[in-house]
Amino acid sequence: MSLDLVIRGARLSDGAAPVDIGIRGGRIVDIAPDLSSEASTMDAGGGLLIRGFADSHLHLDKACILDRAHNQTGTLKGALDAVTAAKRDFTTADVYARGARVLDKAIGQGTTLIRTQVEIDPVIGLAGFDAVRQLRADYAWALDLQICVFPQEGLLNYPGTEELLRAALTQGADLLGGCPYTDTDPVGHIARIFAMAREFDVDLDVHLDFDLDPSWRHMDEIARQTIAHGMQGRVAIGHVTKLSMLPPDRLADSVAMLRDAGIALTVLPATDLFITGRDHDHGVPRGVAPAHVFHAAGVCCTVATNNVLNPFTPYGDCSLPRMANLFANVAQLGETGDLDRCFAMISDDPFRLLGHRADITVGSRADLVLLPCASRAATVAEIGRPLWGMRAGRMSFDAPAPRLLKP
Ligand SMILES: [Zn+2]
Repeated sequence: MSLDLVIRGARLSDGAAPVDIGIRGGRIVDIAPDLSSEASTMDAGGGLLIRGFADSHLHLDKACILDRAHNQTGTLKGALDAVTAAKRDFTTADVYARGARVLDKAIGQGTTLIRTQVEIDPVIGLAGFDAVRQLRADYAWALDLQICVFPQEGLLNYPGTEELLRAALTQGADLLGGCPYTDTDPVGHIARIFAMAREFDVDLDVHLDFDLDPSWRHMDEIARQTIAHGMQGRVAIGHVTKLSMLPPDRLADSVAMLRDAGIALTVLPATDLFITGRDHDHGVPRGVAPAHVFHAAGVCCTVATNNVLNPFTPYGDCSLPRMANLFANVAQLGETGDLDRCFAMISDDPFRLLGHRADITVGSRADLVLLPCASRAATVAEIGRPLWGMRAGRMSFDAPAPRLLKP
């Protein structure tokens, strides 16, 4: 069989023998230990080959605004106030330019699938959505972008917001989000987004329980509505930092609740660590939900970037291996099995949550990213930086390892 390209010596899973990957017409047409072909070759050097990383929660519209928005208090309220003020001047061209900077970084870090959360309200209107929709089209050469529109500033308390969300869902948004904690009627907010999700037949991805007070929460209402609407497997909740404050017995109840309702848990360690616990001047709690405990019980869990260079998170290189390493460090995980779990939370689980496949098989599109590490756990431990990526057989980035100039 004639081939366009052969990738030689790649490992498709931990401990597997290296194989060759034959590519033709942008698709994988053969996988075998030693492919004989006249086609040009690339040497994978025994590295791990994956379909890329998936970022299930990334705000493109409010990224890269540190030059114009400052979090005065370091708190969640300080971040919300700063972005609300800056958002008045957002335009479609401005959001597009900042979003493109983030996507350029993400592609170079091996991310090939992103769910982006886009704010909709009467002030920003559909300006951010229009920009992100254009980014989705313009960056299709390198990644899949899924658009989640949501009411960051509340829904029932902010007349005009629902009509705009409906317009976005009609004009190409992929799913709906929520933010009950900013609404004057959080339970009504939850009921409304579930009703809209059913009406438009879309998944839900909700910002939830973003504080450290375990005496109350909205997670139970989300679980109840998920089951009532038959939406098991179609709902994700992000942050849920309260879970970090629960003793083991209450945590076990929460694990059972999410597992039984088929709800995915997204942890955003960079933001959760930066924002929560600001009322402590020592012994600061970490405020990162123990996703590994939920994952071990079979709950779909993701670790994601959330924010890049803004009042919620003044950092960001868009590296998902760095985020998985940060989570592992905070959660005090060091065993190989636990680090492997952290890798799954930036690959297998978010791919599944977003409705994509993470495995590399004959017949699938040649979307491939080469890692410099021999295993998934090593990629998390060493923050393995991808060496190159391709989409449909075309190279999408190239980041060679440093070449040392020894004496
Ligand atoms: Zn978010």
